[in-house]
Amino acid sequence: MSNLIKEKDQFSLVDQLAGESELSRGDLKTLIDTRNDNVAEYLFEKAREVRHAVYGRDIFIRGLVEFTNYCKNDCYYCGIRKSNLKADRYRLTPEQILDCCAQGYELGFRTFVLQGGEDPHYTDDLMTLIVTNIKSTFPDCAVTLSLGERSKESYLRFFKAGADRYLLRHETRNEIHYASLHPAAMSLRDRLRCLSDLRDIGYQVGCGFMVGSPGQTTDCLVDDLMFIKEFGPHMVGIGPFIPHQDTPLSGQPAGTLELTVFLLGIIRLLEPRVLLPATTALGTISPTGRELGVMAGANVVMPNLSPVGVRKKYLLYDNKICTGDEAAECRFCIQRRMANIGYHIAISRGDHAALQFQTSRESQVQAALAG
Ligand code: SAM
Repeated sequence: MSNLIKEKDQFSLVDQLAGESELSRGDLKTLIDTRNDNVAEYLFEKAREVRHAVYGRDIFIRGLVEFTNYCKNDCYYCGIRKSNLKADRYRLTPEQILDCCAQGYELGFRTFVLQGGEDPHYTDDLMTLIVTNIKSTFPDCAVTLSLGERSKESYLRFFKAGADRYLLRHETRNEIHYASLHPAAMSLRDRLRCLSDLRDIGYQVGCGFMVGSPGQTTDCLVDDLMFIKEFGPHMVGIGPFIPHQDTPLSGQPAGTLELTVFLLGIIRLLEPRVLLPATTALGTISPTGRELGVMAGANVVMPNLSPVGVRKKYLLYDNKICTGDEAAECRFCIQRRMANIGYHIAISRGDHAALQFQTSRESQVQAALAG
């Protein structure tokens, strides 16, 4: 971090970002490269103001069901990559997935996130059946899918079956950086094609990236932030890169808490209404990481609903937290943690603010027409 730029100038960049929800490439780079504790505190204060104006002090919870750790991909950073022969593989049946949701429903979850490796066992027919089952059993709940790259036809089938949202981190918006983290068979172009297909179909779409992944420069981060601004996602998932011992990137340093929360603050100001999780990876690199994420502008947490028996097997990185806890323990632990910092868990689907507004406006229009 350099001292060449005065703190006053950094504060005015934060003011500009808060006032206009955008900054030039150069200014974003300056803000990141010259950040210090005082500027970070100021950024978080502004991010909280914006977050409170849009979502109040509600924290949206998503029940995460990690339903398969089989994956046909070989991302260099990921613990469930195909080449990790030490990974103990598992798959959940449609019944087991529905049981997780039923338990989650009792605990107040109204969004279920089905996440897994890219596992061809879950054909379009099987995924359609799973989504249909969940939506018919819990019609007041949202279903988020996070299954990686599929064809537009597949995404359309899941959407027609009732899936509401889709999480697909772009991982990095920089071509060279992308190629350094993935084998040649994977491409940033395919990833971006999937994201635009999902948006065109009508999903609430989430993109995102790891903070501090090997080879990431400030320019890469600026590429990511400019992409977020241009794409306008409903959700952005960011969390620190954490090495996994059985991957090619095992010896690399993890991303930092400090930079991750700084970026959360920037993203909240860039996209005021975005759904922004304080991720499990953030909670893994610091015992209070998720709280600090919320204090920096995040408004979503994703406690785990996967059966305890498989939790230790969905290891994307080393030392992942909450792998031994029952769903109810995670749920109430999160509630306590959020209450300690002045926030409360909302029992709702927790849709993007634009859709909540649309829904209430639609009902107002309908009421007006009926009356
Ligand atoms: N297969 C789906 C996909 O590709 O989107 C979802 C599962 S994938 C494991 C979910 C996310 O985990 C990835 O988008 C990546 O950002 C994150 N992840 C994987 N390995 C990680 C690591 N070592 N540290 C932090 N995050 C990691």
